[in-house]
Formats: sequence, C-alpha cells, structure tokens
Amino acid sequence: MFIVFEGGEGAGKSTQIELLATHLREQGREVLVTREPGATPEGARIRELLLETHSPEGSLSALGPRAEALLYAADRAHHVDSVVRPALDRGVVVISDRYVDSSLAYQGAGRTLDADQVAWLSSWATEGLTPELTVLLDIDPRIGLDRVAERGDGHDRLESEAISFHDRVRHAFLSLADAEPRRYLVVDATLPVDRVGEAVAEKVDRMLPP
Ligand code: C5P
Repeated sequence: MFIVFEGGEGAGKSTQIELLATHLREQGREVLVTREPGATPEGARIRELLLETHSPEGSLSALGPRAEALLYAADRAHHVDSVVRPALDRGVVVISDRYVDSSLAYQGAGRTLDADQVAWLSSWATEGLTPELTVLLDIDPRIGLDRVAERGDGHDRLESEAISFHDRVRHAFLSLADAEPRRYLVVDATLPVDRVGEAVAEKVDRMLPP
C-alpha cells in the first residue's frame, strides 16, 4: 500500500509519519518511510541544487519555475523507479513525505504554472503511480510558519514566500482533496498530535488487510 502525507510547512508531517510507521510496525508490517525531494543520493543532489539556487530572500529559485518543476519531476521519477515501486512490489507499506500533489500545489498553484501541464509532467514521471491514500495535514500557513519559526529549522526550508503563496498552496491541497474524497483523508493539523495520529491510524487500519 502506498500512503502519502501532504501539507504546508509546520503541519507536522514528519511526526505523524513516524507515529503511523510505528503503529504499522507494531502490527508486524514492513514499512518504508521515504520522502521527496531527496530520498536517493541522486535526489539529494537535486534537493541541494534546488536549495542552493534559491535567491537570498528565499523566493523563487534562480532556475525559474519550469526548471524547478522539471527538477522536482526528475527527482520523483528516480524516486518512484528506484525506491517506491520496488518496495511496493515486495508488499511493503510505503509512506512518502510529499508526492505529486505537492507539485500541483507548489509548482502549480504556488508558482502559477498550468495545473494540467504539471499534472501531465508528474504522471509521465511516475508512469501514473497514484497513492491509495493521501493524508492532508491541513493548517493555516500563519500557524504553520509560526511553528517552523519556533523550531528554528527554517533554514532547511525551500520556501519563505509571502503568505499569499502559502494560502494558494493550502487551497490547492484542499481542492485536490475535495475532488478526490476517496483517496484523501483531511485532518486538522492544529489538533493535538495524538488525536491526529489516531485519525490517521484508524483510516489506514480500515484500508489494510488484517
Ligand atoms: O517537505 P518539506 O517541508 O521539507 O519541503 C520543503 C519545502 O520544499 C516545502 O515547504 C516547499 O517549499 C518546497 N517544495 C516545493 N515543491 C515540492 C515539494 C517541496 O516547492 N514539490
């Protein structure tokens, strides 16, 4: 089973992914936690390139939106081919921190690239691999960005854009969830960590064979 976590900055994806992985491993399941961009050694170089070429004020990478979108797609193609598909073929539960919908939200809505073209590019890169479940940890970017600032790890972020950018990203995720309610679980990321974890685990338990 392929599960993806999506959401804006400070939504708590890493924490929730670890909670779900632990929950599933306690059931004796084999779980692979991965992320994009940067899960493979080659992908890590692409991630570095995306970070390095960012302008000092943290806005759009000097590469421009199309080159940026292609780099995300390149990372994703390699990630799917070398990590995700082989694990799924072995019957492993794969949990990815971000996937195609991040490109629709960030490169599409955020950078205002054409959504259909970004969707086509992503589908080509992944040969159409779609997750069975996408968990959207939804948070107002004002709260999410405050959380990141409090943690003091903003330096590792690719994004320190204007709030309107993050609002567009958030609404893109919510529209994607609206359009595909069967694939999406939307959870309010301002709920206590264990409440979010329970909602996710409950959904996944219902989907997985005993
Ligand atoms: O998942 P994480 O929060 O570490 O991602 C770092 C940042 O990379 C995101 O907040 C976003 O700014 C950027 N990103 C992006 N497009 C993607 C994936 C991530 O702009 N497809």
